[in-house]
Amino acid sequence: MKYPRMRRQDLKPGEVLCSYCTARCCRYFALAIDPPATWEEFDNIRWYMMHGAVSVFVDGETWYLTVNGDCQHLLPDNRCGTYDSRPRICRTYTTDDCEYDDDGLYDQYFETPEQLWEYAHAVLPMKPRRKPGDPVSLPVLPVL
Ligand code: SF4
Ligand code: SF4
Repeated sequence: MKYPRMRRQDLKPGEVLCSYCTARCCRYFALAIDPPATWEEFDNIRWYMMHGAVSVFVDGETWYLTVNGDCQHLLPDNRCGTYDSRPRICRTYTTDDCEYDDDGLYDQYFETPEQLWEYAHAVLPMKPRRKPGDPVSLPVLPVL
């Protein structure tokens, strides 16, 4: 099925923007996270990003962890397969400020843990070198 590009302002009365969308809001979720400021905090986020389709973006001062993946109820025609019992988050979401025409550009975007780690090396003070015989410090893993 092809979706014509419809501008919000061109919708006719009674039309729904979602009818013209590829269900962008059903294909990921993003959670605000504390901006990392230390090696340990960057390392924790790097660990999150090692778990598949996880990315990080920064919008203004706010950092977000994004988990990319289609909702299990999303139908091939981009409609919701559990509309009557969909979660509250979906029920309260509106097209008023949704990502339908979002350009997907952010102040910063990290697709891989390697990119994030490279950024950490650019912005953090140099890590102290480990001397032979020093204990290896492991990253502190978050409690899930
Ligand atoms: S709420 Fe917005 S992003 Fe979600 S399906 Fe509708 S138009 Fe697309
Ligand atoms: S439950 Fe329905 S509306 Fe909510 S994310 Fe899944 S497919 Fe989209």
